Amino acid sequence: MINVESVQVTELATNCYIVTDEVTGDCAVIDPGEFSPKLDKALSKIGYDKVKLVLLTHGHYDHIGGTNELLAKTNNKAEVAISENDVPLLSNSVLNLSKFFTAKPLEDIKSDIALHDGDKITLGESVFTVISTPGHTSGSVCFVCDDKIFSGDTLFYRSHGRTDFPTGDEKAMLDSLNKLANLKGNYTVYPGHDMSTTLDSERKYNPYIGNNFYDNIY
Ligand SMILES: [Zn+2]
Repeated sequence: MINVESVQVTELATNCYIVTDEVTGDCAVIDPGEFSPKLDKALSKIGYDKVKLVLLTHGHYDHIGGTNELLAKTNNKAEVAISENDVPLLSNSVLNLSKFFTAKPLEDIKSDIALHDGDKITLGESVFTVISTPGHTSGSVCFVCDDKIFSGDTLFYRSHGRTDFPTGDEKAMLDSLNKLANLKGNYTVYPGHDMSTTLDSERKYNPYIGNNFYDNIY
């Protein structure tokens, strides 16, 4: 089982998640968009030697911007995982948007693990399954562990992430949302922005899933 703690980072209020494997205490940081004092404090409490993984749902600056400082704190021992399609964003300030939205473009970030649909990543006794969910970017992924989905900027509470940035694709987004909705069982959804939700309630009320759009209008 995993324990989840969330810390909001960047002026865009990105949800960074600190996920701890309850058996071993090993820790993964999902989407460290900024190395904020609050994130530092939370991770210091856990111990940087326990931070084994940085999991990136996609390559936009507000999800990756704190990665290098965080890695330095682990003596560069933590491994960075991102989908193969979004690897280029780690070293391209136009594609990761930092050129437009921040005072200083991001420095290059190295990645250790290039992810593909269905990949499994081990954290202590816990396992994350990678689900490829293009739409926000072509390399956007969700991470599933136990009964939890870390949905990045794919699935939001009653909404979804923008599709108007480079490699964004609205049709792919709708397919990805339905791919998530077709998973078996219920999950707690931890999105990249805004509040947590559950897959069941999104299946029912998210206007972009299934026929909800038509159900809600007519
Ligand atoms: Zn994004």
